[in-house]
Amino acid sequence: MADDTLNDVLIDRLRSFLSKPNENLDGIRSAAARLHSRCASQDKATRERTLERVWRRHDGAIPLVLSLLESVRDQVTCCSLAGILHECVSPRAGTSGKKKAQNHAVKYRSPALSQLTSLNATQLIIKLLMQLSGKESQISDMLLYELVWIIAQLSQKDSKFSVKVRLMGSARTFHNILRLHYNNPKLLYPLLIVFKSLSRNVTTSTVLVKDGIVSTMEKVIVSIGYSPSPKLRLSLNVMHSLTRSKLCCTKMAKEDFVPLLLRIFERWERYNGKMRLRILTYTIITLKHLSNTKIGRKAIKSSNGLNLLYKFCVLCPNDRTYDSLLPRVASIIGTCMDKKVLPIDTTGPVLFSLPVLKTENSDTSDNTTGSGMRTSSSRETTPSADGSVAESFDNNDDDDDDASDKTQESDAGHGPYAIPPPILRDMDDLCQYAAFFQENVVTSNQEARTFEEKCIPRAKSYQEFGSHGCDSLGEHRDYWLINDRDGLRSDSYLGSCHLQHQEPSNDENSFWQKEVERRLNNYMRTVRSHSSCSCYDVYKREMTWKASSDPAMNSNLQNSLHMMGLTILSDIPKHSSVHYAYCAIASKVNTVYPVVKVAYPDMVGGDGSGQLYPLHIKDRKVCRAKLMTSVERAVHPHLLLDRVVYDLDGLIQQDAIAKGNDSGEKHLYNIDERRVGHRDLLKHHLLFESRFESGNLRKVVQIGLHEYELILLPDVNSVKHHQWFYFEVSNMEANVTYTFNIVNCEKQNSQFNYGMKPIMYSVIEAKEGRPGWVRAGSDICYYRNNYQNLHGRSRSWYLTTSFSMTFPHDNDVCYIAYHFPYPYSLLMTQIWKWSLSVDPSLIYFRTDCLCYSLNNNETPLLTITSPDMESNRIKDREVVFLTARVHPGESNASWVMHGTIQYLLSNAPAAIMVRNKFVFKIVPMLNMEGVINGCHRCGLSDEDLNRRWSRPNQYLHPVIYHSKGLIEYCARIMNKTPFMFCDYHGHSRRKNVFLYGCCNAGSWNQVDRSNSDDPVDYLMLPYLMQHFSKAFNLQACNFRVERMREATARVTIWREFGVKRSYTMESSFCGCDQGFYQGYHLDTIHLKEIGANFCEAMACLKDEGGWKADITPEEAARLAGLTSKEQLDESPPMSEISDNSDFSSDEDFH
Ligand SMILES: [Zn+2]
Repeated sequence: MADDTLNDVLIDRLRSFLSKPNENLDGIRSAAARLHSRCASQDKATRERTLERVWRRHDGAIPLVLSLLESVRDQVTCCSLAGILHECVSPRAGTSGKKKAQNHAVKYRSPALSQLTSLNATQLIIKLLMQLSGKESQISDMLLYELVWIIAQLSQKDSKFSVKVRLMGSARTFHNILRLHYNNPKLLYPLLIVFKSLSRNVTTSTVLVKDGIVSTMEKVIVSIGYSPSPKLRLSLNVMHSLTRSKLCCTKMAKEDFVPLLLRIFERWERYNGKMRLRILTYTIITLKHLSNTKIGRKAIKSSNGLNLLYKFCVLCPNDRTYDSLLPRVASIIGTCMDKKVLPIDTTGPVLFSLPVLKTENSDTSDNTTGSGMRTSSSRETTPSADGSVAESFDNNDDDDDDASDKTQESDAGHGPYAIPPPILRDMDDLCQYAAFFQENVVTSNQEARTFEEKCIPRAKSYQEFGSHGCDSLGEHRDYWLINDRDGLRSDSYLGSCHLQHQEPSNDENSFWQKEVERRLNNYMRTVRSHSSCSCYDVYKREMTWKASSDPAMNSNLQNSLHMMGLTILSDIPKHSSVHYAYCAIASKVNTVYPVVKVAYPDMVGGDGSGQLYPLHIKDRKVCRAKLMTSVERAVHPHLLLDRVVYDLDGLIQQDAIAKGNDSGEKHLYNIDERRVGHRDLLKHHLLFESRFESGNLRKVVQIGLHEYELILLPDVNSVKHHQWFYFEVSNMEANVTYTFNIVNCEKQNSQFNYGMKPIMYSVIEAKEGRPGWVRAGSDICYYRNNYQNLHGRSRSWYLTTSFSMTFPHDNDVCYIAYHFPYPYSLLMTQIWKWSLSVDPSLIYFRTDCLCYSLNNNETPLLTITSPDMESNRIKDREVVFLTARVHPGESNASWVMHGTIQYLLSNAPAAIMVRNKFVFKIVPMLNMEGVINGCHRCGLSDEDLNRRWSRPNQYLHPVIYHSKGLIEYCARIMNKTPFMFCDYHGHSRRKNVFLYGCCNAGSWNQVDRSNSDDPVDYLMLPYLMQHFSKAFNLQACNFRVERMREATARVTIWREFGVKRSYTMESSFCGCDQGFYQGYHLDTIHLKEIGANFCEAMACLKDEGGWKADITPEEAARLAGLTSKEQLDESPPMSEISDNSDFSSDEDFH
């Protein structure tokens, strides 16, 4: 108690002097000194009680001490005052009961620091330091010590510290203090803490570097010595931040700092525990920064750095905590070694000549000043004659239509920003699309015939399809049976609409839950009524009867028999085998690269084996070993075997010579079944081939007895986008482990590091009755290699996808791919099969050729609905647009689409329901040119077509242009806003299946945010999907409208045509980390199931219940997983995201 009274008296006395401090110096001096000594007392109780008193915010002791410190001009008094603050922000732990004292300190320290920060103590003390350490004055060491300690503590708390110091012009003051006192062991520690904070800001760092901080730091480190200490750790921390500036690296190299750094690095084994790891981390990052400059590399090499780094790799402890260091060291070695480039030409082996556009274009809709939305869209540079390519590679290129965190920051708009008005097509021009909506208008035979002339008779009767064994419902049944057999699923087919009862976690969940359940109950009632046999028969009879009695419908029925408008399917005899049909179709496909065969798996349907494969568990030892091998090879390149075993560029040249003037028709086929079992005795290595649709191998070099380096083709007319792969191997021995290194990958990370396995197809296995792609491979890892990417940012490197494979049979023919291929010919063969299987009395199914692609292939457009009925006219039904495969590497999108189409054409009750409600317009392959030619991301014009929807060019992006035209026709000519739009994609970085949608509350644009929309519109589908699909993850859904995605299909269709339900559906290349399939890969069967689930969810979507979600836009935003408005507003201002708003010309391809 006595303590408290004394403390109160001292503080009151100090307060009484506040108005005229310099007239009461003696009083202040003694009171401050007594208070200070109590704060720093050896007696724990006194110390803690005094500090508690000073800390108490409402007593205002801290502001009092601070303002006295500001006004008193006496160094001794200042010293006591500063001492009090020092004890407040950095209380001494005392000798006994250290832990308890620390807790005490931790409890009060942070509020004290916040108090000081809010009182602008940082600025005040910096000012004081500047005054006192100026030329005229002489600051006492003691006062300096106290002030530096306070500022050191503040600097760690104050995120703007570095900026404040720079703006106050005091960076040099601090540097000066360090220069004068680096030998003072007491002062050095807090000074280094200050510099740790200062160097975090790049601009402040630059000021310091220009002021000569590098040589000061060198002196600091020399004075500290190499033994591990917090000071050494802090110094290295400062250096790792400073070296982010190239200037700093240059100075370090020039001032001979590098040998010093390497001496510290060399001693790493002598350090222990956490200190070792930290010292190593900072040193290695500093070396990494140095290796990014030419002079830095030279300095590392000339100081024996490479040997030391290599030694580290060899001796690096086999401990998980070092796993992040090894790749860094490996990459420094790789960077310092002589430039190693891929053994290929810098340009692709074949270029595709794009149509030359006129510069001025009278048709506004072809306006090519369209928004690529990214500056990089002008990167579409065909390599110039000398092989050089404009700087274009963007490592951060977001490969998926992913509203991931990376992009969020650049999206929120500040202030209104005018979105350019959509360029509307001319009405007359739009009328050309009437032909694709003839199901609405064809009522007389004459009109029907006009259209008929363009079309080729195709569809066959229901009876005939049975003999082809491609009953879609039957196929569905099979797949449920497979699941049943594996014991994965015991509920029946109908059970797939079974509710996955989840406990609602809170009110808002149960709010949705209730509505979802209500819809599902309605749905189940309808489903039951359809599925009970008699009802279904009645329905079928009614339909057939209606068809024969209703003339309008009759003519429709006739039409649906004659509307297979795809030339490529025109001469496939209906009784052909699927193999024959596939080869006949594939032979007619125009390719950019030469094609010599059809791939066996595609010819036989391309499905997976239908099994669940667990995700791969990464073996860190194997990955380390592979990384080490890569380092060894960089250091000793001559040890490698170097035999080229496949070379597409050479084959294309030979082909061109051999062909000469013979450019007759292709006849593609597959004789793999006859090839198996035969060995090429002259070749003691694997044989490779990828000259088939979607194949993309460019070169293979054998580098070891059973090890191969594979180089992939870039996208057509591009020098990049290597990720997708598909090739054939043969001439193998069974039970030998072969290693495949795909060495020109570009993405910084891959699902191959997170459980994904590549897939493999064995022809012998298929012949023996076990067909299907399987997940295969072991020792899978993905890491940076030593090949420099000449097209990348300055000095970037390729990455390796490495996996080993053991084949089941000798002399087999096997195919290996990134994901289940789904080539164009497979789609066309499927359409042919579907067209034969559909009963036109039950299903209106029509295929049209929407347009021709750049290389003159047909774009199929499918129309699926129920036949016209008097009680339910087609023209009165809502229209749903579905698209897929704008990104050719995302073959999973095609499998999901396959599932959707197959389901829509089935007799499943939900299929009947959705056909009755909707007219489906489906463009299943938006980028068939990319698919055909084995591209990963782009079409023939080296553009991401999903960034072209806002301003598609009729000649360069015909499929996008006309797909959008269809939607515009529907919205403006038919005056019917499409009910839904969904574009199917695949996701390479995330697991599960999820949807991206659009809502006003989540828009980057302020004008959008001021408009409200009904969350039921965009949230209902994801909620329903969560119930129907076992792979779906509601939590991963996102409804942001990002500025940089304005030109994507999803945002364009939402914005320009007011389609409220405009989605991107993403499914993982890999598998699931939640839900029913947690821990497993997705197979084609699961992907198709997702497509079917989508239709089931749609069956519940259109509901006339008039249910409204009674929630505010803010709540809606929260439900939609959006950040709060504040967070949106905190994003960087427009100026920092200018590169996302490119409206420049896209015409510079030529
Ligand atoms: Zn995509």
